[in-house]
Amino acid sequence: MLAIRDLSKTYPNGVRALKQVSLDIPVGMFGLLGPNGAGKSSLMRTIATLQDPDSGSITLDGRDLLADKPATRRLLGYLPQEFGVYPRVSAETMLDHFAVLKGLVVRSERRAVVESLLRQVNLWEVRKQKLGTFSGGMRQRFGIAQALLGDPKLIIVDEPTAGLDPEERNRFLNLLAEIGEKVVVILSTHIVEDVTDLCPRMAIIAQGQVLLSGQPGDTIAAL
Ligand code: ADP
Ligand code: ADP
Repeated sequence: MLAIRDLSKTYPNGVRALKQVSLDIPVGMFGLLGPNGAGKSSLMRTIATLQDPDSGSITLDGRDLLADKPATRRLLGYLPQEFGVYPRVSAETMLDHFAVLKGLVVRSERRAVVESLLRQVNLWEVRKQKLGTFSGGMRQRFGIAQALLGDPKLIIVDEPTAGLDPEERNRFLNLLAEIGEKVVVILSTHIVEDVTDLCPRMAIIAQGQVLLSGQPGDTIAAL
């Protein structure tokens, strides 16, 4: 269980992006729904330890995620909104590079991990293709393979379905749901259906505040 308590963040320009955000997020897929500018990315980046909050705490199964950032980064996977890859590198080579960055130093181990992840996200057949030739959906599935390196306990996915066609979107969300059977998966989105289709639990965030959280049926009905 990921427990977020009273998280607040004001940027130097005076924007209050997070105002006392508190959430309990169990294992499974959790949808964070909110309009543009609501504070979703700010919350994702804070959980990923890429920026510090002004106050508040984040724990995963009782462990303080803000205390030891390198340790936290080892146990989480992150697919940012703008996920950059080298277009001229093959999927297999790029994932291998990410594996090195994750600390997988033994080549033979990396090869096994890379193969198993590319199979899981259904990109094994196209592993030799350059990432620049991938469709949006393929790129996002590659992003998930990258996020899954190192067996994370927590996966953060920021606005992943933007620009995907309906078939790619379904494929991508089903992949996330599969992953969510074992670990905490936080999916941030401004698309209501991303959440209602597959997330057993969700929260609505607007202007830096959690408005509602619960099961999608009840939460959407309460709006
Ligand atoms: P969302 O992901 O829901 O679109 P963000 O977390 O990106 O929301 O943004 C929340 C608010 O904080 C917005 O008003 C945005 O303009 C502002 N903001 C985001 N990042 C920064 C930053 N680095 N510096 C200043 N303001 C920011
Ligand atoms: P593959 O794994 O498909 O055989 P590589 O990814 O190893 O291919 O590299 C294929 C080509 O792309 C090579 O010509 C290489 O020089 C070029 N290349 C490799 N890395 C980069 C990069 N970071 N940016 C641009 N071109 C690159």
